[in-house]
Amino acid sequence: MLIDIHYCGVCHSDIHQARDEWGGALFPMVPGHEIVGRVAQAGGSVSRYKVGDAVGVGCFVDSCREWSWCRKGEEQYCDRGMNSTYNGRERNGQPTYGGYSTRITVDENYVLRIPESLPLDRAAPLLCAGITTYSPLKSYGLKAGDSLAIVGLGGLGHMGVKLGKALGAEVTVLSTSPSKEKDAKALGAAHFAATSNKDTFQKLARKFDFILDTVSAEHDYNAYLNLLKTDGTMILVGAPETPSKIGAFSLIGRRLKLGGSMIGGIRETQEMLDFCAKHNVASDVEVIPIQKINEAYERMLKGDVRYRFVIDLNSLKK
Ligand code: NAP
Ligand code: ZN
Repeated sequence: MLIDIHYCGVCHSDIHQARDEWGGALFPMVPGHEIVGRVAQAGGSVSRYKVGDAVGVGCFVDSCREWSWCRKGEEQYCDRGMNSTYNGRERNGQPTYGGYSTRITVDENYVLRIPESLPLDRAAPLLCAGITTYSPLKSYGLKAGDSLAIVGLGGLGHMGVKLGKALGAEVTVLSTSPSKEKDAKALGAAHFAATSNKDTFQKLARKFDFILDTVSAEHDYNAYLNLLKTDGTMILVGAPETPSKIGAFSLIGRRLKLGGSMIGGIRETQEMLDFCAKHNVASDVEVIPIQKINEAYERMLKGDVRYRFVIDLNSLKK
């Protein structure tokens, strides 16, 4: 399907890749994997969508479709490697280019339906920030009533707060930015704690069932593990470029679990979009023209985003 792109969210992964912080970047690069728009043309074998439908494209545009993880509908863990929306290659070897663009062509099996009740600009970040926080909360077994800490209140973090609350958890935000306290509560957090305040780590020791860590830069995971209850789980979704040390003693004393999670499959992404429509959840966005993208990257690096930049691609069409 040919999709006319209306909006594309700006993920911190775009910065990591445009600056080749993870290594192996393919240039020239067109970033962007939080894509929403409307179907402009549908090929003859397209059966589920028609011209004009509101659709989204997330972090991948294809996968092997044959081996176990694809058959389970968790294409992000494709045994032969998913085909990233950008900074990757199609199965035929052609480079892929992402959503900082006016149009994209994608197989309907890798396209999501955006519920009509969601505004398109506020839905764009759900395609990565939304599913990246929803999937681990579900797969690691968060239950209503559990205490959940979200570390880092940026694009992923603010979706973690909204989705954690909608799933029934009691959410605490742990942030380096004391100025975000009011926002955190407005987003649905019951509590807020500044991590610059050393008392925080004493006061909150053994308080949480789950910690979802969305931080984009190096920090000490051991300090956060200390905040888990016995049998608690810390899930890493933030992807700093440098590895960190984990002390065995941080884990063994209270039978803790440390895990990670990467985006989500097509089926679960659709489930998350429908969940958001049902629970009236969407991203808080600052819409920018493409001409402001460098400024947006600099502001994100300073933690100055409330809470996702979204590019209006009309600015590229003029
Ligand atoms: P973002 O909007 O820039 O938010 C990151 C937040 O982390 C900041 O707002 C800040 O929150 C906190 N932070 C930044 N530097 C910090 C530091 N040095 N120490 C402690 N906290 C710090 O980024 P994002 O788009 O949410 O992405 C976050 C990370 O997730 C990135 O590394 C990205 O690549 C990764 N990611 C992973 C997946 C996946 O599938 N696992 C998917 C998408 C993105 P406070 O001001 O509240 O401290
Ligand atoms: Zn992303």
